[in-house]
Amino acid sequence: MHHVKILEDNDFFNFKISVKASDVFLATASYQLLANACDYPLHIGITEAGSLNAGTIKSAVGLGYLLMQGIGDTIRVSLSANPEEEVKVAYQILKTLELRQYGVNIVSCPSCARQGFDVVKIVTEVEKLTQHIKKPITVSILGCVVNGLGEAAHTQIGITGTTGGKHNVYLNGKPHHKINENENLIEHIVQLVEEQANQN
Ligand code: SF4
Repeated sequence: MHHVKILEDNDFFNFKISVKASDVFLATASYQLLANACDYPLHIGITEAGSLNAGTIKSAVGLGYLLMQGIGDTIRVSLSANPEEEVKVAYQILKTLELRQYGVNIVSCPSCARQGFDVVKIVTEVEKLTQHIKKPITVSILGCVVNGLGEAAHTQIGITGTTGGKHNVYLNGKPHHKINENENLIEHIVQLVEEQANQN
C-alpha cells in the first residue's frame, strides 16, 4: 500500500497490483488483505509453483481459492514447463470455475473392473485430438453403461460402456445411435466433436 500511495500521490491510477508468492498460504492471505484494502485490480498467481504436475495443483488450489471469492482480475500460472502448458492450465482453472467457456470439457471416469473399454486410452487420445476446438463442448466418456447413461444425459456428446457389444451414443442428452465395440471409437468421438463445433 506504500507503493500504491506513491502512485496515487503522482496522480497515476492506471495500474494493477501483484503480490505473487510461491507459498500458497502467503499468497492467498496477501491477496485477501489487499482486496479488503483497495479497489485496484489484482493480478494473481502462485509464482515459481514448480513442476508441471505439482505446480498445476498448487496453482489450482491457490488461484481457485481466490477466484471463488471473487478476488483476482488477471491470472498467471508459473510452471517449470513449456509455457504452452501454463496457458493450458490457466484456461483449465478458468473453465473449471465457469469463468471461461472454451474448448472440449471431458467428463470421464477413473475406470475400474466394470469398464467395457480402455477408458484412459480413449480419453487421453480424444483430449489430444480435440485440442484445436475452441467452441465449448461437453463430452462424457464413461466405462460402463450404468454411470454412462447418467452422465450422457447432461452432456452434448455422451459415450457409455458397452452392452451387447455396442456403445450407446447420446447427443444433447438423448439416445442417438450405437457404435460397435470393434469400430474406431476415438475417430468416431472426434468426428462427433467436430460436427458439433461446426454447427451454429
Ligand atoms: S463409471 Fe463405471 S467403469 Fe467407470 S469407474 Fe465408475 S463403475 Fe467403473
